[in-house]
Amino acid sequence: RNDDWQIAMKVIEKIEQAGYEAVIVGGAVRDYLLNNIVNDIDVATSALPSEVKRIFSSTVDVGIEHGTVLVLDEGQPVEVTTYRTESDYSDYRRPEQVTFVRTLDKDLQRRDFTINAMAMKKDGHLIDLFGGQEDIKNGVIRSVGDATVRFREDALRMLRAIRFSAQLDFTIEEKTLKAIQQDCDLIEFIAHERIAMELSKLWKGKNVYGGIQALIESHLAKYLVGNFKDNEQHWKEFHTPQSEVGWAYLCILNREEVQDIFDFYRLSNKDKTFIKNVMNAYTGLLKEWSIMDYFTNDLFVLETAYDFAVWQQKSIPFEKSEIKRVKENLNIQSVNELAINGHHLMEWTSKKRGPWIKVALDAAIITILYGDVQNDEHTLKEWFLNEFNNER
Ligand code: ATP
Ligand code: MG
Repeated sequence: RNDDWQIAMKVIEKIEQAGYEAVIVGGAVRDYLLNNIVNDIDVATSALPSEVKRIFSSTVDVGIEHGTVLVLDEGQPVEVTTYRTESDYSDYRRPEQVTFVRTLDKDLQRRDFTINAMAMKKDGHLIDLFGGQEDIKNGVIRSVGDATVRFREDALRMLRAIRFSAQLDFTIEEKTLKAIQQDCDLIEFIAHERIAMELSKLWKGKNVYGGIQALIESHLAKYLVGNFKDNEQHWKEFHTPQSEVGWAYLCILNREEVQDIFDFYRLSNKDKTFIKNVMNAYTGLLKEWSIMDYFTNDLFVLETAYDFAVWQQKSIPFEKSEIKRVKENLNIQSVNELAINGHHLMEWTSKKRGPWIKVALDAAIITILYGDVQNDEHTLKEWFLNEFNNER
């Protein structure tokens, strides 16, 4: 990902050559200082969006009203945002109205936490007005300026503080935490999608358990759907690189509230399907998986359900590696591998299409899985006409 850094530097160079200032800001600087993988690199500039568009030949307006232009000149897209201040916050939500400014200081001042409010020049020189480096060194999340003021401007920042503490395994500075405790109810003004986005990042954090504890300690947990307090201990060993695993775990721990969780956080259909599959696999595991459970669920679903059981100290009488082995040794891996289909069945019986076909094909899969018949057309025809067809 070093390429991305080089590409951002080229963009900065071109902006400087046109007579404006440009720097790398925010998360990229933080992650660089932490030696973490740098995700997306944001460039900030004194040039107005119209001026940025004049400098480069290929740009896309992705959020021009917020000052963001996507520069495509260097092959990889780079987000370039004009220095701006935010004002006129209403209802404790981030403002839609922004004002472009020509000085970096003002832009850094509007950012949420000291570790997110640093900038880096092309030559590597760091602009750190609020002690971000020191906070990175000590592992601290601290608001830029007065925490209470900043949280009242945009209440989502309270949840972001906790998300970053989990993501990086940092602690939340005392005044910052106190300010959250004091104004935790303001989170109710925030769109649930934005809340869900922060939680999705929290699930993938280095210290999710710490994040859950911080949600409880800050009292924010009270305003979220799902019981965090009574389940605190179950998060101790939780870790995942995939956010849907976090949502599934929240659902496993709050079985009576699954629909509320789906609705409140507006989870995607993809996530909901994954969650339902994991929940079924988990229930199956506590009884004992049948060969059909291995067949119908994909490996990731099964392994996730297994992890959930382990994290909750359920005793499972086999190793996790066993799952892959059993799955690979199934006599048939998927419906597509079945040597017969509905057309075969209709031809053999002269019966019309109907629900009986699925019943018969499912039965065929089960007998193949149990090793009672071979998966080839001839054997299956014999099996079907002799046994299955007679039974009906
Ligand atoms: P991630 O690695 O999760 O993307 P990030 O720091 O890039 O972390 P973003 O949400 O992408 O986080 O925001 C980019 C930057 O914009 C932040 O580093 C911060 O400086 C600023 N920022 C984002 N959201 C807010 C907010 N609600 N209030 C103040 N500043 C914010
Ligand atoms: Mg980011």
